[in-house]
Amino acid sequence: MLDYQAILEEIHESLKNVENTGKVAAYIPELANVPKGKFGIHLHLITGENYSVGDASEKLSIQSISKVLSLAKAFQLVGNDLLERVDVEPSGHPFNHLSLLELEDGIPRNPLINSGAIVVADILLSHLKNPKEDFLNFVRELAHDETISYSEKVAESERLTGFNNYAAANLLKAYGNLHNDVEDVLDFYFHQCSIMMDCRQLTNAFFVFANKGTCLKNVQHLTASQVKRINAIMLTCGFYDEAGEFAFEVGLPGKSGVGGGIVALLPHCFTIATWAPALNPKGNSYLGMQALEQFTTKTKLSIF
Ligand code: GLU
Repeated sequence: MLDYQAILEEIHESLKNVENTGKVAAYIPELANVPKGKFGIHLHLITGENYSVGDASEKLSIQSISKVLSLAKAFQLVGNDLLERVDVEPSGHPFNHLSLLELEDGIPRNPLINSGAIVVADILLSHLKNPKEDFLNFVRELAHDETISYSEKVAESERLTGFNNYAAANLLKAYGNLHNDVEDVLDFYFHQCSIMMDCRQLTNAFFVFANKGTCLKNVQHLTASQVKRINAIMLTCGFYDEAGEFAFEVGLPGKSGVGGGIVALLPHCFTIATWAPALNPKGNSYLGMQALEQFTTKTKLSIF
């Protein structure tokens, strides 16, 4: 049996003092206030054991990690109809890239880039009675945790500087791939990105993707086939234009966010979350990427 606690501590120790060349995301002003030195890791085994190190119980802004959760909800609500409005190919471009959207007639490359997540948000708006409340309840249920909530401050901060997302949403609207009002869709999108969770809560919420669609509370939310597809999308599209590098170095499906969080998982085995707010030039956590590479190398636990 591997000594997971010792492995997490070893990784934390080896990285916490390296020169961190990453930069905290500043294009959302509220995120620029987060101290660069935060660093936590949490591991949740499918058998129920939990291991933590560093700042794993401090809340972070989950940002793009929320796109996997909204995708799961949309899959649950509309199934494969979703694929008529968003593709499942890696984009090879940054998360907020726009010109591909124009070249491809308003069909986003995948649901984990901003334009794709905005289409998913539009679908949720069309199908949920009280979209923000219902989505938050879904996340709370997945994580088995009623304390999870939105940060109004972060959502408002992103709204005020969200020019790129306004451009994407307007382009989608022009191509007929946004059915609700731009303002309403973006209000939902900025809120989903503003959800605050700690590393442990992230591993709890993502348990459903390691457990064939059944969440921690033993409720079946997704079919095994939907989970297979969501994991495939995470593997191929979860790390902006660094998805290949993450698969190469870490070998797990996962998703990062500009708040510096990363969640990854090995189906039927574990979920793991890291948080270190300084990002590399591709927008992924500088230390989180290295911590996960060390974890799968030391434990030899990856999908490959
Ligand atoms: N809310 C962020 C945005 O739309 C999410 C980006 C991210 O985490 O990749 O710009």
